[in-house]
Amino acid sequence: MEPSSSSSGSVNGSSLMVMTESHSQSIVVQKDKAVTSMSRAYLENKAVSDAKSLIAELCRQFYAMGWVSGTGGSVTVKVHDDSVPRLDQLIVMSPSGFQKERMVPEDMYVLSPDGFILSSPASKPYPYKPPKCTDCALLFMKVYGMCNAGAVIHSHGMESCLVTMINPFLKEFRITHMEMIKGIQGHSYSDELVVPIIENTSHEGELTEPIAEAIRAYPKATAVLVRNHGVYIWGDSWISAKTQAECYHYLFDAAIKLHQLGLDCSAPCHGPIGKVNGFWGSGGNFSRSFRTAAFGLDYMMEPSQHCILLDNEGTATPTSFITDVLFPYALDNVGKHLAATYGSKETQEDINLLRSQIQDDFEQGVSGAVPIPPDYVGKELVIASLVANVESMMRSDRKVIALKQLQGHIWRTGFQSNELVGVVFDDVPEALERCMYILVAAGNHNNSFLPNLTMVT
Ligand SMILES: [Zn+2]
Repeated sequence: MEPSSSSSGSVNGSSLMVMTESHSQSIVVQKDKAVTSMSRAYLENKAVSDAKSLIAELCRQFYAMGWVSGTGGSVTVKVHDDSVPRLDQLIVMSPSGFQKERMVPEDMYVLSPDGFILSSPASKPYPYKPPKCTDCALLFMKVYGMCNAGAVIHSHGMESCLVTMINPFLKEFRITHMEMIKGIQGHSYSDELVVPIIENTSHEGELTEPIAEAIRAYPKATAVLVRNHGVYIWGDSWISAKTQAECYHYLFDAAIKLHQLGLDCSAPCHGPIGKVNGFWGSGGNFSRSFRTAAFGLDYMMEPSQHCILLDNEGTATPTSFITDVLFPYALDNVGKHLAATYGSKETQEDINLLRSQIQDDFEQGVSGAVPIPPDYVGKELVIASLVANVESMMRSDRKVIALKQLQGHIWRTGFQSNELVGVVFDDVPEALERCMYILVAAGNHNNSFLPNLTMVT
């Protein structure tokens, strides 16, 4: 039959065209020399229209869940027909660049089992764009072909994106001992759920081969995460795909929240990060071998605490806070601090350091240096002498360790009692967050310090 019009194209990368005869009752799918005829009536039967309606409904639901906002994400289902093997069933896909919450059944594409567009939606007037099948079509076809799936969901849900960003080195998401793992095909509560993570690309279609590789490497997987992007999830049916998608998003969200609490979702006891496996989501061979190779065994054994050391004065904190708040506080409280902590090991070390400094100052004729009496004259006289020396040092703005150490201890007491409250410039919190990612990228794996930042001057 000679077709009189051409209405759509292929999505599987060949030069095939799908040609339709507008007045005929059949559609011809031409692939090189192979020709498949299909009844137009079959393309318009109830099963197909039900599948189109289903996708429109699912897109509205997924939009409400934040999975397909901004026209992102996509959904595809196979047209269910008991008389047709799944691999031979027709495929319905959502269009590209369309607001998912406003889609209607007539907006859907129908594809042949091997990925040729059999039916396209009609064009709509401006400001609608010309109809285009989803950019995920190649990926969907790959999943259909490799996994014998009945439906595939591509979500841009925030949790599916963020969970890949916490550690940019991880190639797997791992979680265990969560009830919702039971919702993932082939898994029980205590199983370790492993989802491969692939890197994002500029164009969605370029993800096709990386997804295929991930499916080959993880035959048990029913999802693949795309870093900084989202997730592809499939199931035997649309119900299975949807149910698993809900469970995956729940588990991604749980993992993010556990991480914020400093807990490790990949360990059965969900203990503190760094105490169980030492690396967020570190149950996998990849992360262990990576750490061993990149940082050595010693580093791997003790990753628990990291800090960011800042030059506060004028950098993170206004200079006026130092001169107008911290220094007067130390000056006013040196006697009180020494009296309250006189017997402590720390203060005795401070006093010994001061004695040594003052002795040097005295010998060198530094102005204001006053000899410290021996301990047996009594604590009050010793403290009075120390205070006089400290006041003299501070007025001279001395930069000696003995003074700095004592000041630090006085300020720490002030911060702990909330008599002192730290001040930072407005852009410091955001800069610290960026530091966290730099540290992670540089190999400082444990970023659990972020919720526990403490300002130390
Ligand atoms: Zn996407």
